Amino acid sequence: MLKQIDFNKLPITEIVNEIIYTAAQAGASDIHFDPSEKNIKVRFRIDGILIDYTIIPENIRKNLIARLKIISGMDITESRLPQDGAIKTMIKDINLDMRVSSLPTNEGEKIVIRILDYSSSLNGLESLGFSPKNLIKMKELIKEPNGIILVTGATGSGKSTTVYSLLQLLNTPKVNLVTVEDPVEMNIDGINQIQVNSEIGLTFANVLRSILRQDPDIIMIGEIRDDETAKIAVRASITGHLVLSTLHTNNALNTIERLRDMDVETYLLASSLNGIVSQKLARRICPHCMKKRPAIEYEKKLIKANLGIDITELAYAEGCDKCVGGYKGRIAIHEVLVINQEIRDAIANGVPKEELRKLVYTNDTTTLLQDGLQKVIQNITTIEEILRLVELDDESTKIVLKQEEKNNINISNKITNNNQPKDISSDMEMLDI
Ligand SMILES: [Zn+2]
Repeated sequence: MLKQIDFNKLPITEIVNEIIYTAAQAGASDIHFDPSEKNIKVRFRIDGILIDYTIIPENIRKNLIARLKIISGMDITESRLPQDGAIKTMIKDINLDMRVSSLPTNEGEKIVIRILDYSSSLNGLESLGFSPKNLIKMKELIKEPNGIILVTGATGSGKSTTVYSLLQLLNTPKVNLVTVEDPVEMNIDGINQIQVNSEIGLTFANVLRSILRQDPDIIMIGEIRDDETAKIAVRASITGHLVLSTLHTNNALNTIERLRDMDVETYLLASSLNGIVSQKLARRICPHCMKKRPAIEYEKKLIKANLGIDITELAYAEGCDKCVGGYKGRIAIHEVLVINQEIRDAIANGVPKEELRKLVYTNDTTTLLQDGLQKVIQNITTIEEILRLVELDDESTKIVLKQEEKNNINISNKITNNNQPKDISSDMEMLDI
């Protein structure tokens, strides 16, 4: 249970500190202050899911908003426009780095605090959940002196943590390592980090042009958001620099497709791309309340088709006082693609996506679904969690399911018989077409 606050006894400064401290201790990534007509509801996002924490009474509502705005450096007289702020502080024993934003809603200002925590990237690549096979690939990738390594995934998929872990490994006195970020999320000693400021024209592309004149060895670009940044990233990598960046794509094949859609010469893209790491975060099953249940027919078939393993039971957790709904903490699932000569040639020759798919998803590449299912059979996460995260119509999973079709397995019938949730069955039916 999260510690509750006595609003009548504590001064407002203490109340705010207590809320932030409780959230940080519980491992929350965000604190939401949701205004309603009478009060403010406080919610924490823990392991990716929002949970209710407390209700701020009407009598301290105004003071609370004012206090949050003061400590984050916002204008307390402005309540009609959105604002951004930041808090760097130490509460009790916890060092905190937070980004704060306000948004005017019709019930008053909603404030969200994001708690930045990159402590896991300090524990090294080994702690991020890479399978032994993927870990070897990652270590090979960063040995290259030039080329592009992309880490891809949605917002909140742990991309920054992975990139920062790679930077820690690459950060030696022998190299000039420069980053351009928006925002700079964690300060690292020995690295030149540059914060983008588009209001004054300091854009990713502008900063990159200047970095290239500063004798860099390794360049980290926070995110490739536009064609211009993509072009400069490619140019930088073929002129002898190692470039690390992120992209909002869900798997390796779609990443190549996105880059091909961008205004980059395909032959340059083909020779510069070294590797693509796609990832998502799955909630870890709580070890304190974990139990086993028999696996249903569909789950057995899915695991057999993807991992070639026969299972009879799977782990699940109902929830206890040490977790939230049976889960505690998160682990990344990955798809790591090392670009080989065959794939380079295919990109350079502009082969259609279907052909590229065959080259990308060979036996050497573990798909997100396969990596997730491996973590299911290791009792690290649940099959429900993996099916929630990995869309079964993802490019990478299609092959696996099509193979299943070849074996004359009627997936839709099987699902109906096993009472699977409706959304999954509709995905699978779409695949049958
Ligand atoms: Zn538990």
